[in-house]
Amino acid sequence: MQEPRYRVLVTDFVWPSTAPEREVLGEIGAEIIEAPDPSEDTLTSLAEDADAIMTCFAQVTERVVRSAQKCQVVSRYGVGVDNIAVDTATSLGIPVTYVPDYCVDEVSDHVMALLMAWNRQVGFYDGVAKQGRWEGVTSPVPLIRLRGCKLGVVGMGRIGRAVAGKAQAFGLEVLAYDPYIAERHSAGAGVNLVDLPTLLSESDYVTIHTPLNDETRGLIGANEFQRMKPSAFIINCARGPIIDEPALVEALRDGQISGAGLDVMEEAAPPADHPLFGMDNVIITPHIAFLSRQSVLELEVRTAKATADVLQGRMPEFLVNPAVLPHSRVKLN
Ligand code: NAD
Repeated sequence: MQEPRYRVLVTDFVWPSTAPEREVLGEIGAEIIEAPDPSEDTLTSLAEDADAIMTCFAQVTERVVRSAQKCQVVSRYGVGVDNIAVDTATSLGIPVTYVPDYCVDEVSDHVMALLMAWNRQVGFYDGVAKQGRWEGVTSPVPLIRLRGCKLGVVGMGRIGRAVAGKAQAFGLEVLAYDPYIAERHSAGAGVNLVDLPTLLSESDYVTIHTPLNDETRGLIGANEFQRMKPSAFIINCARGPIIDEPALVEALRDGQISGAGLDVMEEAAPPADHPLFGMDNVIITPHIAFLSRQSVLELEVRTAKATADVLQGRMPEFLVNPAVLPHSRVKLN
């Protein structure tokens, strides 16, 4: 059998197999090595021999990147790159790729699913119906007509904009906070651009769609919850640490806000006795907002293609760190 031209380390994945990746990368003579576990020690050792690294949720730390001395590209299966030591990769000449638009439909649908589940009290009524209680039952949280309610979107990027459009179709008025977009963008989307305190105090629903970085870590904490309506519902399908979790628990306990819908939490796999798991006014899904049969296949194929592109000296579809270009290990055209 011929020696593979490239070795591609897959640190972790949350789908049945890497067959679609193998098909794409096989065309350029690349072999896939699946890490047996995503610990830093394992990845550091396997990275030594890797020409490329593809990663989903595993931490590709500074130590892992430094040990990857032959590595020509780190490709993120996904949107956020907060699990990759991007600055280190840039300084060492390693391009980092990502797929920022593969699940905009799924995540924005998921936000609407959480919002609608709360607005129609689906969890509560599902429970009582199955207990045979069909008459005279009213949910502790009253049913409010959605049309005319206000949704505050924090971060008007790809997903935030998609959520805004879907919410408008349900008759919600949309406020947005995003210090990095021009007013004309939001006006075009029929959205009122406001500052964060205004968004928090006026919204019936608040949904977070910023990246996780030093500026947004803990963006929503005790002060922010105090500004919100006691009837407000907060949704986080972005990254857990953007919300200060102990402050959220307190706000929910003290009735500063009414409920929360979370697809992400501070820890990737929170302990079973986490206080949020015991709360009736919290809906939680285990980081699956991106998931659909179509989105995952698209993610696998496009991440593999981006990896193959860089290995062969082509510019990938989406590059995270253009600052790498003048000194990248492989010249990209
Ligand atoms: P994006 O880059 O298209 O948009 C992010 C927006 O946030 C930008 O408009 C930016 O200007 C804005 N922003 C940055 N800093 C801000 C701040 N301090 N305050 C307010 N706005 C700020 O990203 P996206 O594709 O819309 O993704 C949004 C989030 O969703 C990311 O955190 C991503 O990791 C997460 N995500 C989660 C899932 C999931 O399965 N739960 C899937 C995909 C993406």
